[in-house]
Amino acid sequence: MKRVAIFPGSFDPFTKGHEDIVLRGMDMFDEIIIGVGHNSQKNKRYFDIDMMVKCIEMTFKGYDNVRVLVYNELTAQLAKKLDARFLLRGLRNTTDFEYENSISQVNRHLNKNLESVFLITSPKFAAVSSSIIREVHKYGGEVSEFLPYPISDTLPA
Ligand code: ADP
Repeated sequence: MKRVAIFPGSFDPFTKGHEDIVLRGMDMFDEIIIGVGHNSQKNKRYFDIDMMVKCIEMTFKGYDNVRVLVYNELTAQLAKKLDARFLLRGLRNTTDFEYENSISQVNRHLNKNLESVFLITSPKFAAVSSSIIREVHKYGGEVSEFLPYPISDTLPA
């Protein structure tokens, strides 16, 4: 049976930290589906979602085992629909852990066939977060070194 993982997130924007999780996940899974969702607590996006999807696709254009989709439902339901048995997430610190721990319990309750898999951030990306990048970008700061090239190249000035 194909090992399919969903890597869900807001990806507002998709960073080099996210890219690193996907690249490392490729060793474990046959296919990784990057699900760009609207988080209920982060409703209003800063970067356009269609632009972000195109840029993420460009980031992985050499890989036929990565696909990108937008979704607007529970991740656990999406996983069922896509026959994905794994939920891939990244952990940077204890704050991420607290959050991911409760979410994974709920996801398991909603879909008992879904196993959450966590990768610890690579040290060089430990401080990279979408929210800090949004903040810096908003005030005109340089953020390109934290973003995969197709994304840094496309961001509005
Ligand atoms: P969400 O809105 O669901 O928290 P994010 O887009 O912020 O989504 O992040 C998606 C996933 O990537 C989460 O599991 C998050 O912890 C992880 N992540 C974010 N930044 C990094 C990073 N620099 N290194 C490793 N994992 C990260």
